Amino acid sequence: MRTLDEIVERLAEGKYCREELLRLLTEADEQVRQRLYERAQAAREKVFGRGVYVRALVEVTSRCRGGCYYCGLRAENLRAHRYELSAEEILASCRVAYSAGFRTFVLQGGEVGDRAEMVADVVRKLKASYPDAAVTLSLGEQPKEVYELWRRAGADRYLLRHESATEEHYAKLHPARQPWSRRRECIAALQTLGYQTGVGMMIGSPGQTVEHLVNDMEYMLSVQPAMVGMGPFMPQSDTPMGGFKKGSVELTLMMMAVVRLLMPKVLMPATTALASAEESGRLRGIQAGANVVMPNVTPQDYRAAYAIYDNKKSLGSESMEGLDQLATELATIGYHIDFSRGDKPL
Ligand code: SAH
Repeated sequence: MRTLDEIVERLAEGKYCREELLRLLTEADEQVRQRLYERAQAAREKVFGRGVYVRALVEVTSRCRGGCYYCGLRAENLRAHRYELSAEEILASCRVAYSAGFRTFVLQGGEVGDRAEMVADVVRKLKASYPDAAVTLSLGEQPKEVYELWRRAGADRYLLRHESATEEHYAKLHPARQPWSRRRECIAALQTLGYQTGVGMMIGSPGQTVEHLVNDMEYMLSVQPAMVGMGPFMPQSDTPMGGFKKGSVELTLMMMAVVRLLMPKVLMPATTALASAEESGRLRGIQAGANVVMPNVTPQDYRAAYAIYDNKKSLGSESMEGLDQLATELATIGYHIDFSRGDKPL
């Protein structure tokens, strides 16, 4: 049987084996994890150098029709504060972000069914005003026609995490009106339409096992996404899952490192959830293979209302106001901000 160190070396050669990954995630000690992170960092540097892409994140609405049991924006949460940015507010946020140097705008929000035209119009305006910038959407599950409308309007990328590739586990995280089959179909539709598509999942969500994470890895290897977003599960007190404990930072970092080794060109953020779970989360994420951060550029008055989990960071180096602070922090580990569009390399 291979040692854990040998398993890390095999991953570093891009060799995947289900049993070995299961053992690594279950048995790795501090020393093995360090070795894994070092290999992931080397793999990331080979493709991307020491630059970190930045994306301007605009949280466009906290309204949502979804019922995800983990998320504070779920429709059933009557305590959530609902807001909706106007087209003008979204465009103004992006204008400020562009001046600050950002060349990707991410419009993320709850899932709504009544703003498809408005979003298309905003995307058209953004692409007309800033032809050198990319537009990423993250607005949940939508009919194929809507994805098509937004793609035609000029959207380049779409983030829709698969959340769990194990049907039974997916069904524990979501109500029956949101089946795994539809999530999978949405992701396939996005890829067919030519979006650079992002998937991913929370680490340590209620009921998740290491087997589930390995299934997630296999799903990701099969769909070959352009982007992978992973962060620890963070409880939100007004949800049915508010009483569960937060996901493990170490397990999150290990999964990030494994994804980097098996998909070296993928775009992978050090997520806000990771930064919220632990003070050093963002930098540790970069040292485990992440190459993207997504500072919040939402108008400050709205940020608290986008409460997908408790104690979510939206200030300091998680925000556009903290861009200098982010640059300083990155410099301490020998990294720097890369302001280019940062598409997935061919
Ligand atoms: N509504 C859109 C985008 C916003 S949510 C969508 O569903 O795609 C973006 C991501 O935040 C989700 O995919 C989920 O994985 C993550 N998230 C939601 N609630 C969370 C929680 N309690 N802890 C950690 N991450 C969470």
